[in-house]
Amino acid sequence: MQKPITYYSTNLKADPVSFKDALLKGIAPDKGLYMPFNIPTFTQEEINAFSDMEYYEIAYEVIHKFLKDDIAADDLKALIKDAYNYEVPLEKGYDRKYVLRLDQGPTASFKDFAARMMGRLMNYYLQRQHRKLLILTATSGDTGSAIANAFYGLDNIKVVVLFPENEVTNRQRKQMTTLGDNVQIISLDGKFDDCQALVKEAFADIELDHLGLSSANSINIGRLIPQTVYYFYAFAKLKQNNDEKIVFSVPSGNFGDMMGGVMAMKMGLPIKKFIIATNENDEFPKYLKTDKYDIVVPSKNCISSAMNVGHPSNMSRLVALYGGVMNEKGEVLKAADMKKMRDEIWSVSIDDTETKKTIVDAWNKHKLLLEPHGSVGWAGLHKYLEENGDDKDQLYVSLETAHPAKFPEEITRLLNIDPELPKSLEGIEEKEEQYDTITTKYEDFKAYLLKNYS
Ligand SMILES: *Cc1c(COP(=O)(O)O)cnc(C)c1O
Repeated sequence: MQKPITYYSTNLKADPVSFKDALLKGIAPDKGLYMPFNIPTFTQEEINAFSDMEYYEIAYEVIHKFLKDDIAADDLKALIKDAYNYEVPLEKGYDRKYVLRLDQGPTASFKDFAARMMGRLMNYYLQRQHRKLLILTATSGDTGSAIANAFYGLDNIKVVVLFPENEVTNRQRKQMTTLGDNVQIISLDGKFDDCQALVKEAFADIELDHLGLSSANSINIGRLIPQTVYYFYAFAKLKQNNDEKIVFSVPSGNFGDMMGGVMAMKMGLPIKKFIIATNENDEFPKYLKTDKYDIVVPSKNCISSAMNVGHPSNMSRLVALYGGVMNEKGEVLKAADMKKMRDEIWSVSIDDTETKKTIVDAWNKHKLLLEPHGSVGWAGLHKYLEENGDDKDQLYVSLETAHPAKFPEEITRLLNIDPELPKSLEGIEEKEEQYDTITTKYEDFKAYLLKNYS
């Protein structure tokens, strides 16, 4: 019998844990991120069989590979079917270049894919143990609403979301602040990085141990595993023969999305190249080019605001996958196999001017409606084609991570059209908002938590 998969910390100073413990802890006690010791693999035949399956069926096959010793198959099936009850469109741009639209979930962001699965898995384990948790999450916009919606109404979990007052759109804010119940939203006069720093400090604070804190950020392994699924799905639905390889372009901020893709590749998905497209926060493309990792502080404000990250948390996971060690501060303690990384990954930084131009071009040339994040992905793909040549027979898929209707001001200014609201966002303008405000000082945040959740 094969042993169940266990999870190690990327800082290598904490004990290995089961999936359940990694999920409920979020971050390891040594501040590292959990990674599976063994990444399970599929045979080519198994992957070929996905072509006839629905999204939730592929999701089951992929997630079950990781969790087969951690949750009963029928229970997992039920959670997955409940989580993935929406469309996952693949829209053609031109030739064999597609956009994978991950924007049809309840908050119209790709983060729904991970958050809905993680919330259900956490609640499942907590109910069985009669335990409760307080989830702390920092958001630059979309994580917060995805987490808040995914956990809203769950009995065993309370949620606190911190967002930077001036970095989220009205609609993003309203998706969080109109829920209530077990969901509390806090605004901060600072940046996303400030929010993330407060959350990290709270996790490390032993005086808050009794609150049962956990994270739901893209650092949680429970978010990463579901994010491998849509890469398999896109390939399964678009491949024309069993020998071909696919190129993905992933607009990236905290690198959870791309880590899902790289894990899918390690699971056996035939990927020719990953294009990692960042906005002006270009620490990763520089690292890939120079082997030198320098975080961007403070992070730069771009219109693809959910990607304004100067030091992606998941970098330490990526480095771990390539045999290196990076700590939470971004210091490389052991070099990764950069040659292998460059063989598999190509990366580029896209500035706001290019992002806007790409929104206009994609619409005018191909009637593709993109919002700023998806535009960074599509622009990254085209930078790659410029440098590596455009092969009309090659399958390319660029990810669209949010619905254009979440960025109506930008789209209207550039294209003079008002994108239609998806059903999930209808009626949100009229709902009443409720949220608190604190400073960027850790002491304030700590006092708030102790007063409200002790
Ligand atoms: C979070 C987010 C991203 C970046 O995803 P990461 O996993 O953090 O790299 C891209 N686009 C949108 C719309 C997002 O919400």
